[in-house]
Amino acid sequence: MNLIDHYQHPVLIVGAGPIGLALAAYLGSNSIKTILIEKNEDVLGSAKMIVVSMRTMEFCRSLGFSDEVRHWGFPLDHGLDSIFVTGLQGFELGRVKAPSLLTEFDTPFSPERERPCPQTWFDPILQKKARSHPSIDLQYKSTLSSFNQFEDYVDCEILRSDGEVETIRSSYLVGCDGYSSSVREKLGIELEGNKHLDFSMSVYLTIPDLLKSHSIGDAYRYIFVDETGVWSVLTTIDGHNLYRLQLIGANEVDVLKFDIDVVIKRCIGSSLPYEIKDISRWVRKSTCAQKFSSGRVFIAGDSAHAHPPNGGLGMNTGILDAWDLGWKLSAKIQGWGGNHLLESYDLERRPASFKATQESLKNYHRLVGKPSYIGIDEPGTDGEIKRRALGEKLVADNEKAWRAVGIHIGHVYSPSPIVIEDGQFQSDGDEDYVPSSRPGARAPHVWLSSDESILDLFGFWFTLLNFSDINADEFLLIAKKLKMPFKIELILNQEAKSMYEKNLVLVRPDGHVCWRSNEMPIDIEQLLNRVRGF
Ligand SMILES: Cc1cc2nc3c(=O)[nH]c(=O)nc-3n(C[C@H](O)[C@H](O)[C@H](O)COP(=O)(O)OP(=O)(O)OC[C@H]3O[C@@H](n4cnc5c(N)ncnc54)[C@H](O)[C@@H]3O)c2cc1C
Repeated sequence: MNLIDHYQHPVLIVGAGPIGLALAAYLGSNSIKTILIEKNEDVLGSAKMIVVSMRTMEFCRSLGFSDEVRHWGFPLDHGLDSIFVTGLQGFELGRVKAPSLLTEFDTPFSPERERPCPQTWFDPILQKKARSHPSIDLQYKSTLSSFNQFEDYVDCEILRSDGEVETIRSSYLVGCDGYSSSVREKLGIELEGNKHLDFSMSVYLTIPDLLKSHSIGDAYRYIFVDETGVWSVLTTIDGHNLYRLQLIGANEVDVLKFDIDVVIKRCIGSSLPYEIKDISRWVRKSTCAQKFSSGRVFIAGDSAHAHPPNGGLGMNTGILDAWDLGWKLSAKIQGWGGNHLLESYDLERRPASFKATQESLKNYHRLVGKPSYIGIDEPGTDGEIKRRALGEKLVADNEKAWRAVGIHIGHVYSPSPIVIEDGQFQSDGDEDYVPSSRPGARAPHVWLSSDESILDLFGFWFTLLNFSDINADEFLLIAKKLKMPFKIELILNQEAKSMYEKNLVLVRPDGHVCWRSNEMPIDIEQLLNRVRGF
């Protein structure tokens, strides 16, 4: 049995789904030696995730590859509305509007907008980014079969596809191994929540003439409603011919006995030619692990929290685990992070992820709630009145699910041992977002020039934003002494100054504020020790 030493490989990641790849891309960009193992071949299945959130786009932007996510090929003029219909040849009930990608920004709160970029395109972009770094070693057809952690390292037994067994010794192990995580199981960490909300089925199919066959117009998704409620959703995957049809609120028997051809015809309302590419049956769940770490072992993504895919919070929440853990592992491995830094991963990310699972659950109930659907297919005025009332209700409820900026960028890490609160509390935004430089919050976006956001100043270092004429150079001296990567940015922009409220605002590598004040602190070293986990 071979033993690969941990001094060469500080981090071992298990699972090359989007979260493992995102963590590898972050660590690689920061030159941290990492092995990523994946049990499957380097071949992608059908896309589960389709929409990349604005915060995930900010992550991609910070690592320099948001352009690739932006320009993978989704047609810019394709409609992105979500339209409630009784059928594509039936009645439209209402629509949640969303601007096409011709509108570069759909919110003033970010230099990025959410974008369709299905996993079949997004994961390879992450993979290419991870692979571009010499410090990253991606190993497919390699399964983690067991591990043991010790005071200074973790030994992982890896089973290769040729039957060979190898032990990799690493300083840290991260389980990005999905909902059925063996890393979580081995740690004995329980899941809280609902492991079975309903059964669902996703059918991936091409329908070349769909848009020509109806007059409702192109859309991101058509949501089909009958007298029993919302029963299926047809979503465009590539903005051309490829679609995903998903059943909502079914049970196991329904899913197994559904005649797929009948279901498809019921949605599209005509006998258009189509070709089924793939079918997957899955269970909708809403779970959060009781702990996100134990000693030197961490879990991230679906392994730590699994969401109903309503509102697009599953992968997008996991990417924020990768960002949080990425800078903390880097700090420890580079020698400037304290012992409490890695403990803060669980303390910060678990409440944030739990909130996101609850929001996803709320979104699911918004969709399958049971207002009165009787008579929505009736022709004439009576039917029209019912359709309008129901449509307005469905739109009002679901707009919150699909336009919930606050859920994506409004979470405040509070309380956190590495954030220094200043006692000025503000809501941490549920669906709505109120920009704030409150310690713990994501530092708000302001354009500094036509193409530079204040967020572009942040990176693998701490950034002190100085909106005043205070001489803050002592920060640099002390950060240098502590071997902590640190920059000071003097900001003259008035909009930024008023948005950030204080003269001095300290921002972490993940773009969250960790301290702010109108004056220099009395003890800079003590402050920097706190925010780097000492
Ligand atoms: C129908 C559907 C639609 C969705 N839509 C969205 C959306 O629009 N937006 C969104 O944000 N999220 C969405 N999600 C959720 C999203 O797909 C998941 O949150 C995301 O894929 C989780 O990524 P992950 O990397 O944590 O886990 P996974 O993607 O499950 O990857 C885990 C990887 O670990 C590997 N692995 C497991 N065990 C081992 C082992 N022992 N050794 C080696 N490798 C191992 C697996 O092979 C797998 O490749 C959707 C989900 C579904 C089902």
